[in-house]
Amino acid sequence: MVRGLLSFGSVMLAAGLALSAGLHVSGRVDLLGIFRSMPEIDAAFQRGFRSDAMARINRVRLPGGVDEVKGDESLQTYLESFVLAHPKPADLELDEVFDAVQGRFPGAQYLAANLVTSRDREELLGKIGGWTAVANPEFDAINTTVFRAGGRLGALAVMSRRIPEFSLHAANEKGGRFHNRCPHCNEIHALELDRDSRTLILSCPHCELPFDVLAVDISGEIRRAPDFFEGFTLPGTPVPETGSDEDRILALWQKVAAHCQYELDQERPSGSEDEVREVWKRPSETWSEAAGDCEDTSILLADVLVGAGFDARVAIGWNGNIGQHAWVVVKAGGKQYLLETTLQQEVTREDLVELGEATDPYRPEQLFDEERIYYTTARPDRFGRDYFSESLWKAVPTPPSSHLSKR
Ligand SMILES: [Zn+2]
Repeated sequence: MVRGLLSFGSVMLAAGLALSAGLHVSGRVDLLGIFRSMPEIDAAFQRGFRSDAMARINRVRLPGGVDEVKGDESLQTYLESFVLAHPKPADLELDEVFDAVQGRFPGAQYLAANLVTSRDREELLGKIGGWTAVANPEFDAINTTVFRAGGRLGALAVMSRRIPEFSLHAANEKGGRFHNRCPHCNEIHALELDRDSRTLILSCPHCELPFDVLAVDISGEIRRAPDFFEGFTLPGTPVPETGSDEDRILALWQKVAAHCQYELDQERPSGSEDEVREVWKRPSETWSEAAGDCEDTSILLADVLVGAGFDARVAIGWNGNIGQHAWVVVKAGGKQYLLETTLQQEVTREDLVELGEATDPYRPEQLFDEERIYYTTARPDRFGRDYFSESLWKAVPTPPSSHLSKR
């Protein structure tokens, strides 16, 4: 059984469930078996059996160019005690095995189990060696536990592969596959980070709620969306501290718009010719390059607004006319304004649009500010008109283990 391999963003998403099970019990009375002396199943027997099983499996794998399997010692110890504690191991349900193993080893996201019985050791090994899962390159370990089943021998064989717990640090160091506990529903799932992908919206395959938004910065490092905020203040003439909120918002927006060219990532000069990929810039980078795409200028403007004391968020989602897009929303008094940072002409008072009918083509999917990521399960006609409502937009719970690297 391969459980929950998935990845995100532009990457493929596949939560797979392939059950490899085999329960072979003959109902015939086996007179020969009764009179044959049964071997004693002690630690040496278990070790020898597993090592023979491993050798047989590797004889199947190596000609196919598949890496050898090894033992997984702590999983082996656990399986032995699990089988020992079971009143009738021959009746074990494989789902019981999966749940127990994954409860104890959350990283064991790749699992296949096989329960076989036979009169003798050789035949038992033969059944394990002929199991389809043994050739599967997704697995890198085999563990076996032999037990008595009446006058027969039984064996529980488990093919497995453990993957590390997800963290930004690990994702940046190694990339690849991880397991993660969903902060919404608490279920463990697997995820794969493809570093060449665009903005990564990580969603849980169990509850389907987004739990993180990641993006690659210009140095190639994966960061959480809120960590792109940096408390940047605009250099040059200070923005008036007096005047209405609308005046001050407009002044900041105008400065950002006048200074920054709209530029797609594709147009950005990059180190290598063939490397065109979506990166996010931090506010100081967008400002010093005087250019950015919709995320870059939105993060810059929202960061500057937050620094000026406003409640502002970056929205990522869709605009009917543009496609995938990012923009800014800001609260002033009881009003909420949508700020489009890709306008190609001078920003004027008329561009300061309150959320309403005029902003309906904007369909936000996630919001973020300097600390949190927000998601919604409400209806579009409601959540599109109020980006700050706590009932429409909920903050993704922060798992206790995650430490936010803030400025
Ligand atoms: Zn979930």
